[in-house]
Amino acid sequence: MSVAAVYPPQSQRPVSALARAVLGSDPVQRRAVKRLLLISHAYAVIWLSLAFSINIGYSPPVVWLLVIYGVIGQSIFYILLRGGYTLLLKDPLFCFPQALFGVGAVVIGYALIPFGQGAALQVLFVLLVYDLHRLSPRQIGIVSGAAVVALSLLVGGEWALSPEGVDLQQESLNIGMAVMVILMLSAVSGAVRRVHIYQLQQKAELDGVLSELRTLSEHDALTGAVNRRHMMDLLNEELKRQRRAHRPFSVAMVDIDFFKRVNDGHGHAVGDLVLKKLVAMTRETLRETDVIARWGGEEFLVLLPLLPAAAAAELVDKLRQRIELHDWTQYAAGLRVTFSSGVAEHTLSVSLEQTIERADSALYRAKEHGRNRVEQA
Ligand code: GH3
Ligand code: MG
Ligand code: MG
Repeated sequence: MSVAAVYPPQSQRPVSALARAVLGSDPVQRRAVKRLLLISHAYAVIWLSLAFSINIGYSPPVVWLLVIYGVIGQSIFYILLRGGYTLLLKDPLFCFPQALFGVGAVVIGYALIPFGQGAALQVLFVLLVYDLHRLSPRQIGIVSGAAVVALSLLVGGEWALSPEGVDLQQESLNIGMAVMVILMLSAVSGAVRRVHIYQLQQKAELDGVLSELRTLSEHDALTGAVNRRHMMDLLNEELKRQRRAHRPFSVAMVDIDFFKRVNDGHGHAVGDLVLKKLVAMTRETLRETDVIARWGGEEFLVLLPLLPAAAAAELVDKLRQRIELHDWTQYAAGLRVTFSSGVAEHTLSVSLEQTIERADSALYRAKEHGRNRVEQA
């Protein structure tokens, strides 16, 4: 089993239809909506408690304003995130605006709920801690500054309106405590963020190494063509597509003519160069979906999706002509390169191995019939 199969990147993990409908199809978008829904849960618990306390007369009906503020705000955030409108922003999770929105909720709660001051401040701290690693120190500063300023204005306003209704000492103590906790949080935020960035860098490095390992394990080092093992995987995938969608596909076995003479006459290095060039020219000439694999020393297997035998043979013959007409003397004086090929279309009644064998037999017929030609099985 390949490393990538054990650790598929998050973006490649299967997603259910329901999750796709609710969260969206883009992986970043899914993370953003998931985060929002998680917070909505917390909000919902608070809203339900408030609704209950209003019902039993413990809170004044004006507290509904806070519930309405929350429901409308969360709905707008859901529309923005699920609609993908934030994806191109620097902060696609839209944390900063949501944190500011949270500060709004805290201030409204502080103002409206007679017994809720302590709880409101706690919500403020949770809010800051929750996004500590996602917000920059500057954003943390703005969010906490906005909270302190808004709370001070609120208390100041209330006091100006009715000095005897406000316990100024208690309120100052509340806000002073908030400032202290916020200062501590800001200090911690820098450290948390550095660790978070370091983890992200490590993950990116690991992803890079994994994808490099994967490329190495699937390709031939000399020519860059797919290796035999990976070609079998690709052929099996193509087979599944054929079973599902009745799509035809063909394979071509390609073998360089008199390659021993190239090595003997011009040296092994020129032989290597010919192999590399042949793979490069094959990729240039065939379609993007065609795959060339190094099957053996100077033998290649080409997968030609969607083509029945005749069309596949025609395409391979176009490649044969290009290789024949290419000016090989630029690499070594007097060098000429041609190949022979056998093309077979796969049918569901036989195994892949049998189809490859049929292509191989057709190749040997091409050799027998004088080389530099393409034979159909
Ligand atoms: P034919 O037309 O019948 O295919 O003749 P041929 O000479 O191509 O056939 P043969 O199978 O006898 O020779 C294949 C040669 O390919 C032998 C081997 O030394 C050479 N070869 C295999 N792998 C490599 C490689 O990686 N680099 C180089 N330069 N030569 C290789
Ligand atoms: Mg050969
Ligand atoms: Mg050979």
